[in-house]
Amino acid sequence: MDGSIYLDHMASTPLDPAVLDEMLPWLSAGAVGNPHASGHRAGWRAAEAIERARAEVATLINARPGEIVFTSGATEANALALLGGTPDGWPVVASAIEHPSVLACVAELERRGHPASRLPVDDAGGVDPDSLALTGPALVSVMAANNEVGTVQPIAELARRCRQRGGLFHTDAVQRLATGEIDVTALGIDLLSLSGHKLHGPMGIGALFVRQGVALRPLLFGGGQQGGKRPGTLPTALCVGLGAACRIARERRQTDAARLTLLRERLVAALAAGIPTLRRNSPAEGGLPGCLHLTIPGMDAADSLLDLPDLALSTGSACASGDTGPSHVLLAMGRTPAEAHASIRIGLGRFTTEAEVDHAAARLVEVFTASDHSPARR
Ligand code: PMP
Repeated sequence: MDGSIYLDHMASTPLDPAVLDEMLPWLSAGAVGNPHASGHRAGWRAAEAIERARAEVATLINARPGEIVFTSGATEANALALLGGTPDGWPVVASAIEHPSVLACVAELERRGHPASRLPVDDAGGVDPDSLALTGPALVSVMAANNEVGTVQPIAELARRCRQRGGLFHTDAVQRLATGEIDVTALGIDLLSLSGHKLHGPMGIGALFVRQGVALRPLLFGGGQQGGKRPGTLPTALCVGLGAACRIARERRQTDAARLTLLRERLVAALAAGIPTLRRNSPAEGGLPGCLHLTIPGMDAADSLLDLPDLALSTGSACASGDTGPSHVLLAMGRTPAEAHASIRIGLGRFTTEAEVDHAAARLVEVFTASDHSPARR
């Protein structure tokens, strides 16, 4: 790292050193062996390690190991769920504030002739289950928690209503699993996406939970690995890392959630005291513990962050970087483009300290109250 304070955990979380320790042996030259080559012991050992990791992923969400398909990340898991899991001709429904990797698949399904609709959200980013007015089966995709503002969605109720109509319910749970519990069995979820680098695991690995019995058309074709659902040689070290990250998340999620909530409220209190015009876009209660999305009317967020090289935070979603348009999430929440451009997202994580939060608060207040950053100039 470059020495700055890392406050962008919605974009990516640092690898937990305990996860790295478990991965390292699988990155050494001695760990050669294709986990799908069953003719020798090296391959079997890799296969066993991968199956242990698969079981850890399954345990995190109360699924069965056979229901977990490893992917390259959540972008691929979302594509597999939507493009591979939507039966021919079925309508597809998603919230308006899904991650682009879901929304782009909805658009693609629409292009292929599926009726598509997007559920609106309220001014805190919440989906009202009553807005899900299904008349028959549909593939419904609503994220467990939003990656920009941290709103946690009522997926239990949405899944229930979807099932009542004989539909399939998918949730992008990428942001939720580091600090929250999701029990796919109890909630009746059919498909769930997760990503290693959002729960202190490695980048480049994720998984899709596919409820047993749900038919899935593969996106890739090849050697038949993972029952043909997602062929390709699995990266042993990354799978082991994801398994370790899931196990640690299960052990720590409650304590991490409680600590992050306190840290976040400490940060908001300090910022609100120094910046009276500050507005909070993240829900005051019930949102992701580490997520804080703020608008400071009149500021140019992108410009202001240039004056904060000691803080790594974001003007919005990292996945939309390069796209300079206002965030689709904030627009769906009823904010104006000007408000969207005056917003920052702060993401706290497992290793964020009180001292870091206090330093960040002081620096943000300093920059946003400096006369050359006043709304009049910007
Ligand atoms: N969904 C959500 C909600 C995300 O925040 C992200 C990452 N920004 C993704 C999907 C994509 O995950 P990955 O980086 O593993 O492809």
